[in-house]
Amino acid sequence: MIYKIVLGELMENCYIITEDNKSCVIIDAGEEYEKIDAFLHEKNLSPKAILLTHGHFDHCASCKKFQEKGVKIYIHQADADKLYTNGNLSYIVQKSFDSFTADVLLQEGEIEVNNIVFKVLHTPGHSKGSVVYIYKNNVFCGDLLFENGYGRTDFYDGNFSELISSIKKIKPYLNSNYTILYGH
Ligand SMILES: [Zn+2]
Ligand SMILES: [Zn+2]
Repeated sequence: MIYKIVLGELMENCYIITEDNKSCVIIDAGEEYEKIDAFLHEKNLSPKAILLTHGHFDHCASCKKFQEKGVKIYIHQADADKLYTNGNLSYIVQKSFDSFTADVLLQEGEIEVNNIVFKVLHTPGHSKGSVVYIYKNNVFCGDLLFENGYGRTDFYDGNFSELISSIKKIKPYLNSNYTILYGH
C-alpha cells in the first residue's frame, strides 16, 4: 500500500509505503512534521526509514524530528551535505531548518529497507545527488520530472545536460507498466 500526503506551501508529495500495515518507509518528508505524524498515528504505522530523493528543504524539513525517534534517514552521498548547509535552500524562503546528518549514504544500486527492496538510480540534474527510487512498478522521481515538465536546473549544483541524461536513464520506466510518483 502506498499513501500520499501533500506538505507545505510548495505542496511536496510525501509517500508512505507499507507492506504489513504496521511499519512503513517514507519517501521524502518535507514541512509539516505534525501532519505526517498525525497521519501515521491515524493509520497505526510505525516509521522505520525515510528515503530522500534529494536534499532540498521541501523534501526533508521534517527528518530531524523523525531521526530523533530512531527513524533512519537515507540520501545519496552527493546531496548529504545539504542536510546541514545552505544547500537545502531553506534560506531562500527564510525558513528555519533543523539540520541533521543522514544515517545512510546511498550510491546507485539495490537496497533493502524494512524488508522492502528498492532500486536506486542516481539521476543528477535538479541537484547533484538526486535519485529515483523504484519499488515494484512504482517510480518515485522526486523533482527530476513533473507531470508537465521537468525539475529546475538553475540551483547551484543543478545541470541541464545532466538532467536530460537522467531522464534518458529512467526512460525504460516511462511507460504504462509503471506508475510515476512525482515530488510535487
Ligand atoms: Zn528540489
Ligand atoms: Zn521539491
